[in-house]
Amino acid sequence: MRTANVNGRLMLVFDDGAVDVEKASDGLFPSDPQAVFDRWPEFRTWATSATAASHERVPFVRRDLGAPVPRPRQVFAVALNYSDHVEESAFDTPAQPSVFTKYPTSLAGPHDTIELPSALVDWEVELVAVIGARAHRVPSADAWQYVAGLTVGQDLSERRIQLEGPAPQFALGKSFPGFSPTGPVLVTPDEFADPDDLALGCALDGETMQESRTSRMIFPVSEQIAWISGICPLLPGDLIFTGTPAGVGGARDPRRFLAPGEELRSWIEGIGELRNPLIAGSTHPDRPHGHH
Ligand code: ZN
Repeated sequence: MRTANVNGRLMLVFDDGAVDVEKASDGLFPSDPQAVFDRWPEFRTWATSATAASHERVPFVRRDLGAPVPRPRQVFAVALNYSDHVEESAFDTPAQPSVFTKYPTSLAGPHDTIELPSALVDWEVELVAVIGARAHRVPSADAWQYVAGLTVGQDLSERRIQLEGPAPQFALGKSFPGFSPTGPVLVTPDEFADPDDLALGCALDGETMQESRTSRMIFPVSEQIAWISGICPLLPGDLIFTGTPAGVGGARDPRRFLAPGEELRSWIEGIGELRNPLIAGSTHPDRPHGHH
């Protein structure tokens, strides 16, 4: 099953178009794409019924798509979760998942234009797991049962804010507006032959920057859920950004960062792609003062 946020309304996505959930369910489920996660098992049962599948299709274009999970209560992210990225970052391999937060105000849609607040903004393509049931102290063997679906994400990072100071401040450096684009759809785990082994990558103006497989994670999705839920209860509709492979700009020689006018394309096998145009923010140092 695939769902999307189309102009702020929850839709089921089929090959030949989308079904408006509120209309097709006669109001059983609301149009708010966030509200559905509190009733995910009930929604899945309805969505896989013949009623939902036979309902009228609504056409939509890519620009209509918003973040499939627009207002999560918690957004976790895992650092240093692919060995080749640990190596390029010159950190030690963590003994348990290395977790930080991205604030929900940083979320954006799959085709939104993103403002760059400085000339030090870096890319990190990541698989994003969406929680479908309250999870507290969940063993890794049961963890996938708590996953509503998977989507594509970018964990954009302003490297100066992220890394400066005696104790690095990951949360703010990764939470400027637009720094967490997600989408284009949410795909339930049963749609994949192996949800732990998906090709992912990103490209800048057509030049591939990252290319890997999620099977190369140090801590797979199930172990991340076990670790985080052992401390914080995970709530329906929460997001976990599951880490990025090698190829980020800050680790390149010479270093490279996102520039206004470029387009960042990010993809994961079986889910789809984000295409985010980049522009200079109002405080961008490359932008002359007083000009608009
Ligand atoms: Zn990341």
